[in-house]
Amino acid sequence: MDKKLTVLCASAHPDDIELQCAGTLIRYVKEGHKVYMAIACTGNVGSKLHTGPEIEAIRAVEAQRGADAIGAELIMMGFLDAEVWLDNPTWKKFVDLIRRTNPDVIITHDRDDYVHDHSNVGELVYRAAIWASVANIPDTEYPPIDHIPTVFYFETIGTHRVAPPDHYVDISQEFEQKVEAFRQHESQHGDFLEKQFGVKDWFEYLEVLNKMRGFQCGCKYAEAFRVVQTWPNHKPYRLLPPVQLGPR
Ligand SMILES: [Zn+2]
Repeated sequence: MDKKLTVLCASAHPDDIELQCAGTLIRYVKEGHKVYMAIACTGNVGSKLHTGPEIEAIRAVEAQRGADAIGAELIMMGFLDAEVWLDNPTWKKFVDLIRRTNPDVIITHDRDDYVHDHSNVGELVYRAAIWASVANIPDTEYPPIDHIPTVFYFETIGTHRVAPPDHYVDISQEFEQKVEAFRQHESQHGDFLEKQFGVKDWFEYLEVLNKMRGFQCGCKYAEAFRVVQTWPNHKPYRLLPPVQLGPR
């Protein structure tokens, strides 16, 4: 079957997607599928050098460059960092995000990641995925979609606290493009990522993590995912690249 998918990747901060699953998104784009990158927060705390408004402006440009390097359409949701909470109005923003993009597949943070922006985005997306197709929800902007998207989680930053992955995507041919996409977040290198977390070289992180996942599945570089283990996320076909929808 030659159906083209729509993919929504929803993350908390500019650069999360480039770190965790850009190679997979690049593969989707190469296969001709439509990819949206939604970023919940502006990144306003992501600097030890700039003011909030300054770093927000810088990161908006970097986010666009990252999305361009991947070939995705960028959606900035406009929350401030650390201000994504599990409340009803925020949940409705995520219902509307899913309705607006009408995805077949959603990729997002694991609900057990290390910081609440990440885990709350994962939770909100998971809790909105089914309801995006339900009618008569008050105070939503977009009409219901006609199907329930399948949700996958990308890796947590340290790969801690979650079950082992159950899906792998070979990104050997996309790894360099992924690195280039991550490189677009110039403001983070030598500033926040290093000063806040003490990790000097996040390119080494990509090299180590994607090589290890590649080793596990028999290729040079890979990204790993878990499908959400609740009904109706499992499908009798493959929705991650290479997409294999059939025929039976
Ligand atoms: Zn983040």
